[in-house]
Amino acid sequence: MRWVCPICHSAKLAPGRPRRDDVRRYCLPCSETSGRLVERTCPSRDAKTEKRQAARIAREQRSDERREARQAAWLSCWPGVLETMRSEWNDLAAWGADGRRRLRLAAFTLRVGKREWASGHAWNSRFVVTAGTYRPDALAVLLHEMAHVAVGLSNGHNGKWQDVYLKAAAEVLDHDLEAPANSQGMTSSIAAAFTPEWMSAHGIEVAPPPV
Ligand SMILES: [Zn+2]
Ligand SMILES: [Zn+2]
Repeated sequence: MRWVCPICHSAKLAPGRPRRDDVRRYCLPCSETSGRLVERTCPSRDAKTEKRQAARIAREQRSDERREARQAAWLSCWPGVLETMRSEWNDLAAWGADGRRRLRLAAFTLRVGKREWASGHAWNSRFVVTAGTYRPDALAVLLHEMAHVAVGLSNGHNGKWQDVYLKAAAEVLDHDLEAPANSQGMTSSIAAAFTPEWMSAHGIEVAPPPV
């Protein structure tokens, strides 16, 4: 390979990686004149290194873009997943002891927030759920609010509401659940019952897929 002096441009042939103290690395006449060691450069080797670096940066950018695209796809399908669940869950046997299955729902709002945890609110025959990114919790909160609509707001978080919420969860999950000690623990224990297996059986991705 040609090693070229940056000052006088004289070239010497040397291997691509000569030893650090190889005299061909240095231009001795220019070193003599300038009073300090003048190092030759190897343009073809530098070009190769640059090309490799550019390829690596491009590769990293492509993988970042793929990751971002998957993250965006994962987020954008979430409202649709929630609405599918809400409409499936509108007709649970748990909603009516009288054999009436359909939830008497006047209106609902499903929002998707950026936080991890979901929140919800029910009034009259309406509810609002703001789903977070942690999907099992959002599903448990959705069912929580639907249970409020089913039993009526006057029941609050009492035994009747707990009973219906638990029955609805058992129906959705297709297995019985143990009642938690108090109503505060209900939503988190029902969230925990939405296992990764259940989620994947229902085509719900808990986290964005890896690149
Ligand atoms: Zn020189
Ligand atoms: Zn509540």
